[in-house]
Amino acid sequence: MQKYGGSSVATPDKIKAVARRIVAAKEQGYKVVAVVSALGDTTDELIKLARQITDRPPRREMDMLLSTGEQVSISLLAMAVDSLGEPVISLTGAQCGIITDAQHTKARILEIQANRIQEELGKGKIVVVAGFQGITSLNDITTLGRGGSDTTAVALAAVLEAEVCEIYTDVDGVYTADPRVVPEARKLEQISYGEMLEMARLGAGVMQPRAVEIGAQYGIPIHVRASFKDEPGTMIKGEEALEKEVVVTGVTHDTNVAKFVVVDVPDRPGVAAKIFSALADDGVNVDMIVQTNKRTGRTDMLFTVSKDDMESTKDIIEELCKELGGERVIVNTDVAKVSIVGAGMVSNPGVAARMFRALADENINIQVISTSEIKVSCLIDASLVVPAVQAIHKAFELHVG
Ligand code: ADP
Ligand code: ASP
Ligand code: MG
Repeated sequence: MQKYGGSSVATPDKIKAVARRIVAAKEQGYKVVAVVSALGDTTDELIKLARQITDRPPRREMDMLLSTGEQVSISLLAMAVDSLGEPVISLTGAQCGIITDAQHTKARILEIQANRIQEELGKGKIVVVAGFQGITSLNDITTLGRGGSDTTAVALAAVLEAEVCEIYTDVDGVYTADPRVVPEARKLEQISYGEMLEMARLGAGVMQPRAVEIGAQYGIPIHVRASFKDEPGTMIKGEEALEKEVVVTGVTHDTNVAKFVVVDVPDRPGVAAKIFSALADDGVNVDMIVQTNKRTGRTDMLFTVSKDDMESTKDIIEELCKELGGERVIVNTDVAKVSIVGAGMVSNPGVAARMFRALADENINIQVISTSEIKVSCLIDASLVVPAVQAIHKAFELHVG
């Protein structure tokens, strides 16, 4: 099982190079299924196009639009493989039997009816699959959320009982921080599912979180590696790294965050329940939550959501604020979340303090803090995210192996 990201198929020459790589795997005796993303920045471009039509495109139509990106790449890649003389067929998500729920733009895979893929593999064909897409039981096209091709690949690897799922991308592995932000970040030889899942959730865009979750659930080793190099990349698998004494494994950042403050709502039982169940009902994932208690019998409710959910959150919350007799809703998109992740953190007091010190020394104010056994996150001003990540990376000496 192989997956190629958008940058790996951005140009005709790259598509041809990927085709050669796929054919090479077939020649080594593997049955090859290759999942592909849309070419280069296609998905971003399609989103921009939709936004030129309306601020609030219906989610079903968004999926109809976005799924076209992957249909372009699978057909072109199949043509490239065909021209190398190998039997090949391209299949859309629907044709692969990837059945999802109906949560458009962030659907979850419910089951995969893999008989068509099995049949084609049985005929000796290379199968090229459109990542990121599926179909509901009512035949509506869905997409799996940004980065969803990773999930297509790992889920197919699980169903087809592949020995490994290779994620080919434009970095040569998983690093201690985004190498675009921290040039001295270090490549990890291996990382556990748990730590990778946390890093992915907290903004390490190299893997979609859902893909890591499925990998863990079915015990599929995931190999993140460079598309056009032969060296091994990073293995994501069950065991913790050998270096158990490592407290912090990586630093992540996420700028796709919107902060909401519902100002001066009554401080009484049921208010939080009302706000957060309304959001949950709409499928909005709420992240950090802080309630500030004032002496006035009123309270400010602060929380963060993904920018993707900002519009629908705004609609829901403005309505509720009126209903609850709150004063107003403030929305701020100039925020970012920086986090440290590491399984060794649980038993090491002082880790959070070291992170806060690193930020303080850079004169960076922390707006919200949230912690768990495996991570510490701070919400800061978006313009300070680069110095913040660099300072934290340095404070934990993550560049030294
Ligand atoms: P693809 O198109 O192949 O799916 P993505 O752009 O989705 O590629 O993911 C690869 C990018 O993830 C890299 O270019 C890198 O900038 C970013 N990234 C963020 N955090 C990390 C990390 N910790 N390690 C490696 N890459 C990271
Ligand atoms: N093309 C989709 C995206 O850009 C899916 C993916 O690349 O994994 O999010
Ligand atoms: Mg990706």
